Amino acid sequence: MTRVLLVEDDPGISVPLTRALRREGYTVDVRSDGESALEAARTRPDLIVLDLGLPDMDGLEVCRRIREHGRTQPVLILTARAEELDAVVGLDAGADDYVTKPFRLAELLARVRALLRRNAPDGAGELDAEVRIDADARRAYFHDEEMQLTAKEFDLLRVLVRERGRVVTREQLMREVWDTEWFGSTKTLDMHISVLRKKLGDDVAQPRFISTVRGMGFRFERPAAG
Ligand code: CA
Repeated sequence: MTRVLLVEDDPGISVPLTRALRREGYTVDVRSDGESALEAARTRPDLIVLDLGLPDMDGLEVCRRIREHGRTQPVLILTARAEELDAVVGLDAGADDYVTKPFRLAELLARVRALLRRNAPDGAGELDAEVRIDADARRAYFHDEEMQLTAKEFDLLRVLVRERGRVVTREQLMREVWDTEWFGSTKTLDMHISVLRKKLGDDVAQPRFISTVRGMGFRFERPAAG
C-alpha cells in the first residue's frame, strides 16, 4: 500500500486532493501544520505533498527537517509563491519537485506517480545502477551482491547515493550520518570514505564512484550508461 502524507492547511485544497489521491489507490494522511507533519513523517510515508504556507512553520523548514532526519522519500512542494520557486529548487531544502497553485489535479497526480516510480526500490531508474540501496531493509548491493557494511558505512553510502551526481558537503555528511555539527576534524568521515572506496574497488586517483571535491566534500558519480 502506497502511503502519501499530505500537508496542507487549506481544506479547499486538501479535501479534493485527498479524494483524488485515494481514488488513485493511495492511503492518505492529511496534516494541516508543520509540527504534526514532522510527527507524521516519522511513520515513513512513501511520498510527501507539502504546502509551503503553513500556519506554524514554513514548509521549506519542514522539508529541511525531514531531510535532516535522513528521510529520503520524495517531497512534492505545493506553492502559491511563484517568486520562491528558486529557493525551493536552489536552496537545497531537499524537495524533489513542485507544483504551483492553482494546479490541475491531473497534473499533480501525474507528478506524484512519476516521483513514486523514480523512488521505487527496483524502479527503472535504478536498474542500470551498479550500486543500489534498499533504504527500508538497510541493505546495499554492488553488482547485485549484498555489500557487507557497518551501520555508519551504510548511512554514508545511502546519503551519497541519494544525492548522486551532486556534491555532498562534509558538514551535511557529519550531520546526517554522525548526527553532529561539524567542529573541524572529519578524520572519521575520511576513514569511512576510504573503506567504502575499498569495498567498491574504487581508485582514489581515478574514482568511478566516490569523487573528492576539494574544499567541499564528496560526490557519488552517476552510473555509467549501459
Ligand atoms: Ca497554505
